[in-house]
This record gives sequence, C-alpha cells and structure tokens, in this order.
Amino acid sequence: MIAISEIFGPTIQGEGSLIGTPTVFVRTGGCDYRCSWCDTMHAVDKKYKNEWLAMSANDVFQQVETLSGGKPILITLSGGNPAIQDLSELIRLGKAKGYRFAMETQGSVSAPWFAELDYLTLSPKPPSSKMKFDQIRFDTSLHNAQDINVSLKIVVADDADLEWAAEIKQQYPQLPLYLQPCNLELEGNPSLDSLTTKTLNLVEEVMQRGWFDATVLPQLHVYLWGNEKGV
Ligand code: SF4
Repeated sequence: MIAISEIFGPTIQGEGSLIGTPTVFVRTGGCDYRCSWCDTMHAVDKKYKNEWLAMSANDVFQQVETLSGGKPILITLSGGNPAIQDLSELIRLGKAKGYRFAMETQGSVSAPWFAELDYLTLSPKPPSSKMKFDQIRFDTSLHNAQDINVSLKIVVADDADLEWAAEIKQQYPQLPLYLQPCNLELEGNPSLDSLTTKTLNLVEEVMQRGWFDATVLPQLHVYLWGNEKGV
C-alpha cells in the first residue's frame, strides 16, 4: 500500500525542467527530511497522517485515469519524499497504458525502480533548509537513474545557497541545473510583487556570476495559485 496525501489534476507542472507540462500529481505522504521552509508539511509531518490514505497501486492509478479521462498524461510523483515508498507497481500499471512518469526527490533515498521513470528531478536541499546533503546517497540515486532524463533543481533563499548550488553544479556538470527562488512566505499567499522581486534578484545574481549554463525559473504554481493545496 502507498501512503497518499493527495492526487490532483490535470494541471501544469509549476517548476523544474517540465514547467508548464500538463500533469496529474500523485503526492505521497511522509518524508525523511524536515526542511526549514517546507511548503508541503501536510505531506511530511506525521500529525497529518490521519489525512493520508493507504491506497493500492491499482487504486492510485484508477484515480489518475479518472482525472485524466483515460487519456495518457504525465504523472508526477511528488511528496513528501516519494522515494521512501515502493512505487514500482504504480509505474508498471501506468506505463502499460501509455502514461509517463516524472518524480521529484531530494536524493536521500534511492531504489532500483528509479530506472523505470521517464524523468527524475533531483532537488538536493541547500544550507538554508538546515538539512545535510548526503553525497553518497545522492550518487546512488543518480546511479539508479543513469539511463533516464535527470535534472537538478535547487531552490535559492540566499547567497550561501547560491554558492552551494555552484559547488553542486561543478560536481555534476552533466546534469542540467534549474534554479528557483525559495518561497519563504508560507502563511497566506505571497504577493506577486515579492515573487517578481525575488525572481529578478536571482536572475541578476546568476548573470553577474556569468553562470550561463543554468536555467532560472519562477515557481510558476506559486505565481498562479499561491500556497493553495491541490492545484
Ligand atoms: Fe518538504 Fe521536500 Fe524538505 Fe521533505 S524534502 S521536508 S517535502 S521540502
């Protein structure tokens, strides 16, 4: 059984390499991290566990099929940390019907079934998260996904995060890097002005550093829907 926090869509992916792509989100419950600025605590903190459903892979896929009207779409596995559960059966069921799979994880837990995904976004957490980067575990995640499309996504809250992102990019030059401003306004909805200012500041910092192999993106879903759940 899979602990599910929410299944929603179709909507668009709001960040990373697949930004703007139509998708249905499967958000699993549970995470091995506690990032200081986590914006999905409802899928992380055990105090929300009674809101999570224990669902079979078949039930999850049936719900996705209903949401997409039976039309194959990109399924985005998110969390929490989706890697802490066995999602291989869900991927098998979806692929048999032409669905594609993307997953986002910090790279702290890995599994052989990563190789069955179509896309993996590895989002190691920078110093402002207060979490510690485990390179060995990250490299194992990368190893398990060596034949699929892998990208790096790092959210940036301050200069230390940007310096850290530069170090990570140096260590993994083969991975396309997506940088996004970190949303620190988790109560209510951040103002469009403050989101724009943060994005502009990040663009400026990256250009000043002559860092021309990075892609800078806003968190599009926060622009469109603020901190709302399930969109
Ligand atoms: Fe939240 Fe992601 Fe950090 Fe887990 S890894 S605590 S889901 S931001």
